[in-house]
Amino acid sequence: MQKVRAKKSLGQHFLKDLSVAQKIADTITISPEESEKWGLHDIKSSAFPVLEIGPGMGVLTQYLLQNKQIDLTAIELDRESVIYLKEWYPELKLIEGDFLKLDLNKVFPTGNFGVIGNYPYNISSQIFFKVLEYKDRIPVCSGMIQKEVAERIASKPGKKAYGILSVLLQAWYDIEYLFTVDENVFNPPPKVKSAVVRLRRNSRKSLDCDERLFKTIVKTAFNQRRKQLRNSLREYLNESNLAHVESFLTKRPEQLSVEEFINLTKMLEPCQN
Ligand code: SAH
Repeated sequence: MQKVRAKKSLGQHFLKDLSVAQKIADTITISPEESEKWGLHDIKSSAFPVLEIGPGMGVLTQYLLQNKQIDLTAIELDRESVIYLKEWYPELKLIEGDFLKLDLNKVFPTGNFGVIGNYPYNISSQIFFKVLEYKDRIPVCSGMIQKEVAERIASKPGKKAYGILSVLLQAWYDIEYLFTVDENVFNPPPKVKSAVVRLRRNSRKSLDCDERLFKTIVKTAFNQRRKQLRNSLREYLNESNLAHVESFLTKRPEQLSVEEFINLTKMLEPCQN
C-alpha cells in the first residue's frame, strides 16, 4: 500500500525515527501512585483511555497499541491517512474528523483520559486550549510540538517565552520539557525544531477567584506585554481596588507568577460587580 503524501495544510510531518516514536509513546504512561490519585484505573482490570491526535501513518500508534495499560482511540482528519490506518491497524478505534470540533464527552462519556500525539503544529496552541476545557478529566497530556511552543508552555516567569499559554496551562498543569527533537527525523523535515512535553494535572481544584476574569486579565496583560500593568489593565482599575493592587502596577506581565495573577484577579474582582 502506498504511503500517505504529506500535506502541508494539515501540518503533516511524519516521524521516521522509530526510537523517538517509542520514547514519545512511553511519555503517556503514568505511575501507579498517580493512577491511584486520579482513580484512573485499576491497572489489573482495565486500561487507561488515551486519545491520540493525528496518528498519520501510525508511527506512534503502533507502540501505543502494544501498551496493554492503554485503551487507545485515535482521531485523524486526513482521509488518506484514515484509509492507510484502517488497512494497517484494523484493531485501532479510529475517528475520522477534526480534533478541534470533537465532542470529547461523546468519545469518553465518563472518567478520565489522556491525550497524546505528534501533534499538527499549526494547531498546537488550540489543542492545549481545548485540553484546558477538559482539565478535570485529562490528568496527563504529552507529545511533540514545535520547540518554541514547548518553551512557551514550560517557561517560568521572567523569561521572554513566558506568556498566555504558560500562565493558563501552569495554573492547572505541571509541565515538563522532556527532550528536543531534530528536524531530520521527520519526512518531510519541518522548518523548526521540535520538542516533547508532558503536562500533568496539579492538585489545584479551583483558582479561588473568578476564572473567566483570570483568563481575561492574563490575556489583556500579555497582549501589551511591554506595558506596565497600570496601563494594560487600566479598564479594570478603580478607586476601591487601586490601593490593593498598587504593588503590581509598575510590573510587566512576564514578572508575575501564576499565584500573583490569581491574587491580582481576586483584588480586581469587586469592580466587576
Ligand atoms: N503522528 C504522525 C503524524 C504527525 S503529522 C507521525 O508522528 O508521523 C500531524 C497529523 O495530524 C497528520 O496526520 C494530520 O493529518 C493530522 N491532523 C491535522 N489536523 C488535524 C485535526 N484538526 N484533527 C485531527 N488530526 C489532524
